[in-house]
Amino acid sequence: MTEFDRELKSRLEEIRSQGLHRVLRRVDSPQGARIEFDGRTFLNFSSNDYLGLANEPAIKEAAMEAVKRWGAGSGASRLICGSLFPHQELDETIANFKGTEAAISFSSGYATAIGTICALIGKEDVLVLDKLVHASIVDAARLSGAKLRIFAHNDLNDLEEILKAETKVQSPGRSLLVVTESIFSMDGDRAALKEIVELKEQSGAWLMVDEAHATGLYGSNRRGLIEEAGVSGQVEVQMGTLGKALGSAGGFVCGSRALIDYLINRARTFLFSTAPAPTAAAAATAAVRFVASDQGKARCEGLWERVSDLSAVLKIQKPASPILPVILGEESRALNAAERLREQGIFVAAIRYPTVARGKARLRVTVTAAHSPEDVQAAGAALAKLVQESDELDKSDRSDKAEISSK
Ligand SMILES: *Cc1c(COP(=O)(O)O)cnc(C)c1O
Repeated sequence: MTEFDRELKSRLEEIRSQGLHRVLRRVDSPQGARIEFDGRTFLNFSSNDYLGLANEPAIKEAAMEAVKRWGAGSGASRLICGSLFPHQELDETIANFKGTEAAISFSSGYATAIGTICALIGKEDVLVLDKLVHASIVDAARLSGAKLRIFAHNDLNDLEEILKAETKVQSPGRSLLVVTESIFSMDGDRAALKEIVELKEQSGAWLMVDEAHATGLYGSNRRGLIEEAGVSGQVEVQMGTLGKALGSAGGFVCGSRALIDYLINRARTFLFSTAPAPTAAAAATAAVRFVASDQGKARCEGLWERVSDLSAVLKIQKPASPILPVILGEESRALNAAERLREQGIFVAAIRYPTVARGKARLRVTVTAAHSPEDVQAAGAALAKLVQESDELDKSDRSDKAEISSK
């Protein structure tokens, strides 16, 4: 063994000893309400394919047409000669769907966050983040070099105080950017967008909202929580991903024409990366159109019915999103719980550090429109039993109580 491999093995050992080691699971089926791995079929309550579009015939068809017409690869970055018809069509379709002047797509949501935040702010500026924002935003914050201020999760008082302090010391030319998710990825709760908009307007800050888990699911046109909150005109930077409810791949920003023109010139993850495969862009365009259509409306209504079904089985308040975290605390407890469910043919991923804080390991249950009422009934019953048993085992240790968090 080389010195290099020995060093890495010892680091892996350390990860393993903390219950944090992860391996890839090879899935032998398309994404859906049921998936196959290890030679078995599981009811899948782990995907972000909220509307069941990842394997939707019309969207697959669009991808197949695109590969025939436009080829397998884009051959260059968008700004050289890789900005093919399907990419431009996607950008226009997103802007149209979101009701903004313009939009620009990226190869992933991760690349979107990094490219956008680092283009908008730098060392002289201040970035204000909710404590629970996604890793892509945290990484962007570090890379930007901006002064970083974190407010307690969904805590408007804390945000207000930070904004007041930063406004007072604000020198001309210094930018202040607030970033939050609209629906939080691992907790499934929502940000108070109206109130956040008010606070940022008072302080002259800009606001960027990551709608990764809200696009397609909220608002009368299913644009997202920004639409539902009625603040579309007041959010400078709307971000989203194409890989979740939209069932394809990529990320995007939409907003004013000036914002998009600026990002095309300054977002390094856009400039220095080959344009996504034409198939990905075409699939995403078809997905956005699907979501905007009456079919999309019906699919979305179906999803919310399944969410209601699950909360009824679990006897909890209807959650704010299709994401239901079952907080278990210790890493090993989450792993054991996930294994118990797999034994019953139900797949729910155990989420551990670094995706969530240490000691906040959880099962993250996600409901999709592809589930039947019976699927939800089965998963709900298994979960309820698991939580009950877990509570009985832990009567002595209230701090580590299993908790189905419905906010
Ligand atoms: C998944 C996610 C991203 C990253 O999007 P990808 O397209 O998967 O790279 C960004 N922000 C949030 C909140 C997410 O959940």
